[in-house]
Amino acid sequence: MTLIKAAVCNESKTDLTIEEIKLLSPEQDEIRVTVEACAICHSDITYIDGGWSIGYPVVLGHEVSGKVTEVGPGTKTKLDIGDQVVVSLIRTCGKCLACKRGHDVACTGKLRLHETSPLATKTGEVITHGLNTGGFAEEVVVHISQCVPVPKDLPAAFAALLGCGVMTGLGAVFNTAQVESGDTTVIVGCGGVGLASVQGAKISEAEYVIAVDPLENKRELAIELGATHALEPSEDLHEIIQDITGGRLADFVFVSTAAPSAISMSMQLIAPMGALVLVGMPEDGVKSEFDPGLLAARNQRILGSKMGTSKPHFDIPAMVDLWRDGKLDLENMVSSTYPLENINDALNEMRSGSAIRTVICPGV
Ligand SMILES: [Zn+2]
Ligand SMILES: [Zn+2]
Repeated sequence: MTLIKAAVCNESKTDLTIEEIKLLSPEQDEIRVTVEACAICHSDITYIDGGWSIGYPVVLGHEVSGKVTEVGPGTKTKLDIGDQVVVSLIRTCGKCLACKRGHDVACTGKLRLHETSPLATKTGEVITHGLNTGGFAEEVVVHISQCVPVPKDLPAAFAALLGCGVMTGLGAVFNTAQVESGDTTVIVGCGGVGLASVQGAKISEAEYVIAVDPLENKRELAIELGATHALEPSEDLHEIIQDITGGRLADFVFVSTAAPSAISMSMQLIAPMGALVLVGMPEDGVKSEFDPGLLAARNQRILGSKMGTSKPHFDIPAMVDLWRDGKLDLENMVSSTYPLENINDALNEMRSGSAIRTVICPGV
């Protein structure tokens, strides 16, 4: 057991508080990682703001990079103390049907950390291990499958993004949609996930990469990162995208925002044979309507994309290669960094909508 500082959410819709809490030691197939960077994702904010239910108190944060500090006894791994890793929330047992099919995001295995949290208050009250990780803290204990080694020259703040935001956005393009050269793509919502999809569509040589966002700074960055067009949602998107594509509309529309209105609007932008890719996750209870007759008549599909249907041990090294080749811009995806103590300011910057990704660096 170690004592660590963590940003604890004791109740929904309140500020996080920095507390000293207990982190239990890793057991077999588990690992302790010193957090160097943890990016803030909209999923963390949805939990903190009460949009999804979770047990309180909880430590959230799930886009982590850091160094291996301790390997649980009896664990077979190539990882050594001091190795640089990215930690994601995707935990795999390696034995269930989903794992055997390579569907990491759908693993149904029950591991020790599914049953018990490694976090507790100093008086022994259990703290929920938010999103399998608890990354808003100085250290985490996670399952070995959640850790992917990355090179030491990849800056920690960039590496953290590979654990969720960038993996989700790129994975939606590469894995879920499997965009091909010449396709037309529309990306609705240009936060960290949407801008990663913009970059993924460019890497996939999509003919048109049409970014949609209400904020000018995000539209400008989308163009810088490879979008061929950047539009405001208030414009007549159907007509403009018809004009751009010679009447065809989009092969893939990626909805990277949780705004329910974006889903119905996006349905109007899909070409026959095209697909709507749902990447952003709305709050509990949100419903959406569509016309099933039209969907069938136009041979269209609706695809859910949890974490970009990613396999982190395959996809994270591939993303590192893209970064090294200069094809994946991570620098422009980090809007700002904050020490753990100022996490509420970082959360507010993300809530304001202007930031791409704010990153917590506990060691700073
Ligand atoms: Zn996330
Ligand atoms: Zn499994």
